[in-house]
Amino acid sequence: MVAVIRIKKIYPYSLCRIVKVGVIGFQGDVTEHMEILYKLKDERKRDIEPVLVKSRRMLSEVSALVLPGGESTTIYKLIKEYDIYWDIIRRAKNGMPVMGTCAGLILISRNAKDERIRGMDLIDITIRRNAYGRQANSFYENIKVNPIGNIIAIFIRAPIIESVGDAEIMATYDNQPIMVRNQYVLGMTFHPELSGDTRIHDYFLSMVGREGYTSSGKREWYVSDIA
Ligand code: GLN
Repeated sequence: MVAVIRIKKIYPYSLCRIVKVGVIGFQGDVTEHMEILYKLKDERKRDIEPVLVKSRRMLSEVSALVLPGGESTTIYKLIKEYDIYWDIIRRAKNGMPVMGTCAGLILISRNAKDERIRGMDLIDITIRRNAYGRQANSFYENIKVNPIGNIIAIFIRAPIIESVGDAEIMATYDNQPIMVRNQYVLGMTFHPELSGDTRIHDYFLSMVGREGYTSSGKREWYVSDIA
């Protein structure tokens, strides 16, 4: 007699694939972001693959995206020229986690208050560029970030977040928000990629979904348990 055994499908996290995390690679501190992500991969054994993104095809391969600090007008021009501006918006609105640092935050804001930059409106803030003055007025501060702890925040020709709508404030300096988050989007006016500290990027990874399956076998994205 042949016994028919029904096996209930259970797909645990261990079957989830490696998450490709992209860094927009046209200008700015691209290498520094890649280095931090490699550090998380190699030293902290995070299941990620850092990927440089310079085209629509490269963007289509990643599951999360970092927009680096640099010169927002230049990065803006290039993502338009390489035709990935609208793809970033479309992917992000569909739940792809995005992190923007300094110039990157300017680009993903609702309102960048600069006629040369149409903010992607991925996070509900109004932001003012170069609000602390020139390069020579750059500085760093010990800042408490909720829920990460104290970090050294490096500000280089940083913008100021003038108003915050539907977003959570994760850190402030001088009574002004400097780090904000909504469900899938994280941004800060400073440079976590320059201090060698991996905790903010690691926190971002905790927002990244992983491909998995529901018990009925349907493909889905889960928020990972990395952090
Ligand atoms: N001042 C730059 C801009 O407006 C941002 C500076 C930075 O990313 N360090 O684009």
